[in-house]
Amino acid sequence: MSTEKSPDRGAIAIMTSGGDAPGMNACLRGCVRTALEAGYRVFAIFEGYQGLIQGDIKELHWENVSNIIQLGGTVIGTARSQEFRERSGRLKAAANLLEHKIDKLVVIGGDGSLSGAEALREEFPSLVDELAANGTISAAEAAQHRSLFIAGAVGSIDNDMAGTDVTIGADSALHRIVEALDAITSTAYSHQRTFIVEVMGRNCGHLALMAALASGASGCFIPEAPPEEDWADRLQENIHEGVRAGRRVNLIIVAEGARDRSNNKLDAQRIKTALAERKIDSRITILGHVQRGGTPSAYDRCMSTLFGVETVNILSSNLTESQIAILQKNRIGHTSLTDAVAQTRAAGKALAEGDYAAAGKARGDEWLRMVNIQQTLMRIAPPEDTAAQNRLRIGVVTAGRAAPGVNSAVRTIIRMALASGAEVWGIEEGPGGMISGKGHLCSWMEPELWNSFGGSRLGAGVYREAHGDLPKIAANFRKWQLDGLIMIGDWGGYRLLDKLLKNRKQHPEFAIPMVAVPASINNDLPGSEYSIGCDTALNSIVEAIDKIRTSTDTAKRTYVVEVMGRYSGYLACCAALASGAEYCYTPEKVLNLDDLRHDVRELAQAFCLENRHTGLIVRNENAHDDYTTDFIATLFEADGGTEFDVRKAVLGPLQQGGTPSPLDRIQAVRLAYLAVRNLLESIAMKVTGGYFIGCQSGEVVMHDWSKLRSYPDPWKRSTKRRWWDNYEAAVHRLAINPQVRRQHK
Ligand code: ADP
Repeated sequence: MSTEKSPDRGAIAIMTSGGDAPGMNACLRGCVRTALEAGYRVFAIFEGYQGLIQGDIKELHWENVSNIIQLGGTVIGTARSQEFRERSGRLKAAANLLEHKIDKLVVIGGDGSLSGAEALREEFPSLVDELAANGTISAAEAAQHRSLFIAGAVGSIDNDMAGTDVTIGADSALHRIVEALDAITSTAYSHQRTFIVEVMGRNCGHLALMAALASGASGCFIPEAPPEEDWADRLQENIHEGVRAGRRVNLIIVAEGARDRSNNKLDAQRIKTALAERKIDSRITILGHVQRGGTPSAYDRCMSTLFGVETVNILSSNLTESQIAILQKNRIGHTSLTDAVAQTRAAGKALAEGDYAAAGKARGDEWLRMVNIQQTLMRIAPPEDTAAQNRLRIGVVTAGRAAPGVNSAVRTIIRMALASGAEVWGIEEGPGGMISGKGHLCSWMEPELWNSFGGSRLGAGVYREAHGDLPKIAANFRKWQLDGLIMIGDWGGYRLLDKLLKNRKQHPEFAIPMVAVPASINNDLPGSEYSIGCDTALNSIVEAIDKIRTSTDTAKRTYVVEVMGRYSGYLACCAALASGAEYCYTPEKVLNLDDLRHDVRELAQAFCLENRHTGLIVRNENAHDDYTTDFIATLFEADGGTEFDVRKAVLGPLQQGGTPSPLDRIQAVRLAYLAVRNLLESIAMKVTGGYFIGCQSGEVVMHDWSKLRSYPDPWKRSTKRRWWDNYEAAVHRLAINPQVRRQHK
């Protein structure tokens, strides 16, 4: 069935090109459906530029992109085309575009594909003239389509495009890599082995560096930071000392583009040979194409969908200069394609010429910071010059229900603090341990393998206020001689810290700097767009929904899935966007019965008109006190008529557990690093205030405690706008055909 209204805005074509990347299908869906709604005719070009040259172009309708958001690869195919590099190839491409009156083109691909698109755009007027001159098109057609407009979405697992913080597929590739590294770690642990793992990334070290940070690797070789000339001797020493210090696993990550200082390739085999010469046995794993494959991560599905939407916004603006959809400062936008490609190429050229400082600079300050952090985290002991100092002592506690990723945060705190000459007191069992006095001094090696564990290795717990707990905590702070405290946790932990800070007069032990680090799967903590654990929970939800949806064979069925989030709709909204749900009910938007009745009728009609088998509603646990999951399921069952039956699923605790996702581990490192650095600076400057850390607009920032009260209490319903509001708007718009929607306005 083709239900979109008759087109009046011309034609858009969309293609995927170059290397495939998980998330390309989500981008395709976002682009196609947004373009159809805007009134364009939409065409898919199959098999990349080769298909364009061969005229493999077909019109797409709303239902053609159903049920693809969860698929890896690209359903419209991709290819590499030598012919497109020649003008003669591009002439055929232009003729095929004009045959369908297409002068707007969306290209999802890497810098090669996007450069190809730009070459076509630049030449287009002269190609049109040539086609008019040789009679392929009429003079009128030539006059009507003189210019080609290009919008790109960067599909690259390497995350190597300048101008955007993320590219389609990079997060999914990291999932594949980190899953493999976790698996290798368990076998390496058993045999005390050294493993060299080579990962993709072409000339960019992003995947290798992030994988090293996420897995806790003991070595990492990336193109942007070649090792010292004596790298093999250093590696030998590191491995021997590691064994003496009790390290059982040596995981060395090598980027496929890694080089030594003389610009010679430094691959896994060369490292293995160098180690063998030094009598160290090692095993190589080259991950290869598994990194490209598999189902896209939740993050990739959301971002790619929004990139797809943005490509249509770009084309609707009729900008003469080609643009790419980007993510900067955690917001979707667009930038000049030529500038982004030029900067990307400049970084590549700097690398090829051995100008590593310029290459690192091109990756940005945050990248350089992460390289430095990794270099410290992979040590086997703190630097020797820190040992003799007059030791400061900081406490670290994990409060609330331990969110996946907190172990990476604690590991970073322990190692960064020890590397700065401080001691770390690990408070056990959360706030309960603060009161009962359970804790120990942490050693460098203690958190060695913590990254892959869910829960909190220190032990966490919910703070339950009790009379007389403050004097006990004060006595323990005195006994432990704490100079500062870092609390990683949820709102209960923030409230506990608030209580300590408010009672500094009565208990001078609390007159020390304290820092709160946000960790909650609900992503509801003040001053932060991200809290540790929410990405793992989101992936768990999306995986569960994938399974639930495929449980239907022949029945026409709607699922109502209840997810956590307390009074934050983040998980519900992102899960709905990533799963292609039709509706998403969150606490931020007050539900009423009229809305629900509208949605039932609309969904029933969508089932009736389209040959669909499943519908999906994602409901936050606190979306409404009365319109519960049961109520909604009953209402949709009763009023949906014969179009579908309804099943409900309350996902429950599976959302809280599990192995932390790569993003949660990496963000935990970033947040913890700033927490410990700031705490040590505050102690040195004798500042005794409180701080809470946040990730805002992509940057890790520090807030003074006094700002806490300007944020709404996350444990209460709030209708304040959130940064993901436009995600929520996209859910329904991309899932229900506009023609159905218009009838139910
Ligand atoms: P990616 O897009 O993943 O970087 P490639 O670099 O292989 O992948 O490019 C994919 C395709 O894009 C090439 O096979 C070619 O058809 C086209 N292409 C790349 N660079 C150019 C260029 N400078 N001019 C014209 N076409 C190009």
